[in-house]
Amino acid sequence: MEQQKVYYFDNNATTRVAPEVVDAMIPFLREFWGNPSSAYGFGAQVHGHVEAAREKVATLVGADPKEVVFTSCGTESNNSAIHSALVTTGKRHVITTKVEHSANINFGEHLQKMGFEVTYLPVESDGSLDLHVLEQSIRPDTAIVSAMYANNETGVIFPIEEVAAICRSKGVLCHTDAVQVPGKLPIDVKRLGVDFLSLSAHKLHAPKGVGMLYVKKRTRYTPYVIGGHQERGRRGGTESVANIVGFGRAAELALATLEDENTRVRALRDRLEGWILSNIPNTVRNGAKEPRLPNTANIAFDFVEAEAVLMLLDQVGICASSGSACTTGSLDPSHVLSAMGIVPMRARGSVRFSLGIYNTAEDVDYVLQHLPRIIQKLRDISPLSPEHPDNDRYDIEAARKKHEEEMASVKE
Ligand SMILES: *Cc1c(COP(=O)(O)O)cnc(C)c1O
Repeated sequence: MEQQKVYYFDNNATTRVAPEVVDAMIPFLREFWGNPSSAYGFGAQVHGHVEAAREKVATLVGADPKEVVFTSCGTESNNSAIHSALVTTGKRHVITTKVEHSANINFGEHLQKMGFEVTYLPVESDGSLDLHVLEQSIRPDTAIVSAMYANNETGVIFPIEEVAAICRSKGVLCHTDAVQVPGKLPIDVKRLGVDFLSLSAHKLHAPKGVGMLYVKKRTRYTPYVIGGHQERGRRGGTESVANIVGFGRAAELALATLEDENTRVRALRDRLEGWILSNIPNTVRNGAKEPRLPNTANIAFDFVEAEAVLMLLDQVGICASSGSACTTGSLDPSHVLSAMGIVPMRARGSVRFSLGIYNTAEDVDYVLQHLPRIIQKLRDISPLSPEHPDNDRYDIEAARKKHEEEMASVKE
């Protein structure tokens, strides 16, 4: 298979496996393929490398290695934290937010079908969370609050330290989905004060198929995947050794590239976003400017369909997305943008560009060279325009007002 050059602006969907990570993994595919649970030396030596990787992943988040449970993905980590909280507390209410990854949104719906109660917290029009609303929604039967650290669609950051403090004061467990954070912000579970935190390796330049759940010392935990005694009885299933070793190496790299992501990549993102907003008419940024991940830009191009923009970008080798890869194909507007009170027509014209450490200034130039023409072409043939009789579908004010009224009603 040959891959032609791609201009990759979809790092929140998945990331390129770093060459250093591939190099670290290969010995565990070729030679050291023993089972880490085996008693003989050939297996036991592999066990040592799994534990070394655990230390590296623990260091990435400021945890003790004993607090790290390897899982198969970020989704499993999120599901496991919430499942454990329900089982160990015996309580039946979960609080999460309307802008979570589908790993939480759909698990919540599954729990509702099973007879549990789930509250989805609303967000402000800039995607931020109202801590007062969170506090009000905690009930005596609430088992856990699960709120994401940074949003995968908009990059908006939630104040998890404050969320965790509220949970502690109410005696409720706290989980955060930090999948989008490594390499972009420093993570310190001690400072955050959460009980559970999820990561996924493929979002930080390691392979797909491995994740981790941080479980704070002395937090009661019951496994979600039940089987053998792997992971000190907290997750059954033979360890995905090569992936775990790759995850460990990627954790080291993520600490080393924090600086580049926050200076060079941030500047590339700001140039891309700034140029679009000031040179292409009828564009707006979705979500707060700050606090926000340094790599993410979510931009509404009014009077076009994002799916059409993405198709034309794809024709010139540019990869971007209209939100979450997990919802691609559905014509519904993004649940994240909808929760922010963005009118459906505008949400459907929104494109996410998520950059990474492998992006260059030339990549950004290439996008800026093609994008204006693509947008103009689509607008020329679009039935939607400021003058079109159907443009009440763009009644942005009405959508904003409706959202404001909804927010006001939950704040009462
Ligand atoms: C990608 C992502 C997930 C899911 O991780 P997987 O390893 O693909 O299951 C969960 N939460 C967020 C915020 C993500 O971006």
